[in-house]
Amino acid sequence: MTGYIDVHLHWCLFGRDPALVKSELIQLERDGFEAVVILPLPGMGASPQRVLNLVPGAYRDLCSLTDEATSHDDLDSWRAFKTEWDNEEHELKLLSFIDLRAWDGLKDLSEWWQGGHDGIKGILVAEEDSETMVMPPMRETPGISREDYFDAQRKLFKFTREKNVPLLYHVDVTLHGDFIDDQLKAYSDLKINIPHLGFSRKLFADILERHTNVVSDISSLAPYIRSAPDEYREFIMAFPERIMLGSDAISCHSFKEPSLYLNLVKSLGLPEDTEAALLGGNARRFLGL
Ligand SMILES: [Zn+2]
Repeated sequence: MTGYIDVHLHWCLFGRDPALVKSELIQLERDGFEAVVILPLPGMGASPQRVLNLVPGAYRDLCSLTDEATSHDDLDSWRAFKTEWDNEEHELKLLSFIDLRAWDGLKDLSEWWQGGHDGIKGILVAEEDSETMVMPPMRETPGISREDYFDAQRKLFKFTREKNVPLLYHVDVTLHGDFIDDQLKAYSDLKINIPHLGFSRKLFADILERHTNVVSDISSLAPYIRSAPDEYREFIMAFPERIMLGSDAISCHSFKEPSLYLNLVKSLGLPEDTEAALLGGNARRFLGL
């Protein structure tokens, strides 16, 4: 089956009833989705309060999260859910990209990797962010210095290379353009998705031109796309093979967003082949499906 693919859904179940999430995934299957990439978030030994700080403010509010909720280990709940799903008859394929945002760069990762994942998720939030993400510096969760935090990020790229899987790496290129450029130079053959068009279409166009292994997704951009559809259509048409469908949906709230993003893309009036590439073809290549 060739259908739609959403490459960016956070697990973060945090105590929500998995049966509700399952019914939402079955609806995505009915809407024509072929695969979704889901990002489980292990706390890696951090306290529930510190795990809560790994979640951006908007999501903490949306799901009314407390440290009681984050006391449920996200990777454990994901493993149980995925095992059940894989043992049932489903057309929709669930792929797992483990979210290593809580990693200190030192802990041996085999406990969290175990039977493997289809990819790795990383995120660079080095400073207190009261506007976009509404969260403290991410290094506070593992309790490491800023220098060690950047070192852990470099090790995450190295680990991804060793595992030979694709990477979904969130970085604001207006803040950390030099850091990401260094990594992209060092790992020029890595399959890497820098989502949200890097938070700056202008700077990101340059990255896409210089690094042909980089792709992106449109997750979290719905309000911006709605307010400037012509500009986004133009950007997508300039990079027709590089941009994928993503929603940033989170399971403690709902997995309905992928279909909303699907309809948003369809409303842009893109050429048929560009639309098909964005909705599935580019992701299929990125994920090796
Ligand atoms: Zn995200």
